Amino acid sequence: MIRLSFLLFLVSITVGTCQNQGAKSKDATTAKQVDLHNHNPYYSRTDTTHLNVSDAEWKKVLPEDLYLVARKKATEQAFTGRFWDFEGLGTYYCAACGNPLFRSDAKFASTCGWPSFYEALRRNSVRYETDTTYGMVRTEVLCGRCDGHLGHIFDDGPEPTGKRFCMNSIILDFEPDSGKKSK
Ligand code: FE
Repeated sequence: MIRLSFLLFLVSITVGTCQNQGAKSKDATTAKQVDLHNHNPYYSRTDTTHLNVSDAEWKKVLPEDLYLVARKKATEQAFTGRFWDFEGLGTYYCAACGNPLFRSDAKFASTCGWPSFYEALRRNSVRYETDTTYGMVRTEVLCGRCDGHLGHIFDDGPEPTGKRFCMNSIILDFEPDSGKKSK
C-alpha cells in the first residue's frame, strides 16, 4: 500500500511538471508576440495610413532579424522560416506594421523553401520595385503600408495568376481563422 501511494505520488509530480512546462511555453510564446507588438507603436491591423518612419526608428522598434529583412532587404535562408511548408487557414499580416497581406487560400506548396502565394489580399496590400542587385533583374515586393521588404515576385506560379510571391517567413504574422481547423 505504501509502495502504491509512493508510485501515485511520483506520477502526480511528473504529470504536474509536464503540464506546467506546457503552460509556461505557451504563455512565453504569447507573451513574446504581445511584447513584440507593444514595442512597435506603428503596428496596426486596422489603420491603413501609409507610414513614413525613419530607418533609425525602425531599428529601435523591430527585433534585429526582422529589421534586417524589412529595412535592409536581407533574405532568410531557404527551408528555415516558420511558414515555407505551413498549411494553416488564416490571414498573413506584415510583421513590421500589421498590414493584411495574404490569405492562406492563395498559398501554394512550393519547393523553393520560402512561403509562396499566387496573389496578394488586396491590390494595394503590396507595391513593386525593380531590383537589379546580385546581377539579376527581379521584381521586389514591398509592404503597401510600411514599404518593408517582403520578398520577390516571379512568373512561375500556378493559376489563376501564374505569379509566385516568394516571401520571407519572418516578415509575416499569421492569424488563424477562428473555428476552422488547420489542414
Ligand atoms: Fe508593413
